[in-house]
Amino acid sequence: MRTHLNIGEILLRMINIKQAVILAGGQGKRLLPFTLKNPKPLVMVNKKPFLEHLINLLKDNGIREVVILTGFLGEKINEYFGDGKKFGIKIKYSQTPFLDENGQENESGLRIKNAEELLNDHFLLMYCDNYWPLQLKKLIDFYNGHPSDVLITAYSNLDKSTRSNLFIDENGYAIKYDSTRSQKDLNGVDIGFFIVNKKVLDFLPKSNSKFETRVLQSLIPKRKLSGYLTNQKYYSIGDMKRVKLTEKFLTPKKVMFLDRDGVINKRPLKADYVKKWEEFEFLPGSIEAIKLLTKSGYKIFIISNQPGIARGAMTKKDLELIHKKMLKVLKSNGGKIEGIYSCLHNWDDGCICRKPKPGLLYFASRDHFVDLTKVIFVGDDTRDKEAGDAAGCKTILIKPEGNLLDIVKDITKS
Ligand SMILES: [Mg+2]
Repeated sequence: MRTHLNIGEILLRMINIKQAVILAGGQGKRLLPFTLKNPKPLVMVNKKPFLEHLINLLKDNGIREVVILTGFLGEKINEYFGDGKKFGIKIKYSQTPFLDENGQENESGLRIKNAEELLNDHFLLMYCDNYWPLQLKKLIDFYNGHPSDVLITAYSNLDKSTRSNLFIDENGYAIKYDSTRSQKDLNGVDIGFFIVNKKVLDFLPKSNSKFETRVLQSLIPKRKLSGYLTNQKYYSIGDMKRVKLTEKFLTPKKVMFLDRDGVINKRPLKADYVKKWEEFEFLPGSIEAIKLLTKSGYKIFIISNQPGIARGAMTKKDLELIHKKMLKVLKSNGGKIEGIYSCLHNWDDGCICRKPKPGLLYFASRDHFVDLTKVIFVGDDTRDKEAGDAAGCKTILIKPEGNLLDIVKDITKS
């Protein structure tokens, strides 16, 4: 069931988000002994408390104000961040005791309810322990296009790194939320990054309750919980092992993705392929461009559709041989390619990796801890542009009269 809105309704619904609300009240026992004397979001990641990375992410997305819902050792968070001035953002706090009168941990529902007076009509709600390269504008566009009271962001579990707890249907609505993570037919995991209409706080009692059970579960049967499903992996500080992975992801790196045919080498004619090394012809300037990128500290990955294999024009071995020789020439000229990602499927295989689909970019991101929102992707075809845009890369297309070297010179001079 798709919901059609007229222009008037769409304009009425259009919202913007300027405030983020972070749930930061739990203890995080899996981070013991650190969390004996420190709240979880202050765990250090690349010499900064993890929460500071989240604040920077929010600032980059145009958020002006953050409300931190504190509990366990909340005063330490307040002490570090203060009113946020030092961090270029306004920060407010709502402290709810860590434990309730029965000695039970106070849950998300009560923490949000207690902050009611501080909250805007619409806000971005986040967990304090997940990092995901937020592109807020995409979430807002999705929310505006999918009438609902809450939008939930779900990771598609592309790398099967955790158990799913959600099912999002093909129209973009959550139809199951299984907090036990035991059901089999699920397709995503709740990573936070909710857009919330404040009116749902009416579902919350002024006593200890869970946001997930009270709000999310009651919205599902009414089709009021829209679901944004993402293939972009998220990183967490759930335990020390995960903190190490998050650290790798958040280590700044310069990364460039290059399409192959039409960027590095001469593009074959339509429906033909570079089938052997003798047919591979470097474009003017491309060898030098790759050398310059390497010298400037860029990690370079090739992202390429090669359906010639599925179409029987060549073998996988042929492709590997071409790449081996290409890498050899580049290497002898001072250029280094970190990885080659090729889609070997046919046009109509329905795979997730053939551009314009962004699958190959997600694979490279997953394997090399690359934040795609910080990647420059150079291609020569609208399919490259579509794939890059979908994954959040800065995508540049070579103009018919242009070349890779001019683009690279421009990028590396700044
Ligand atoms: Mg191309």
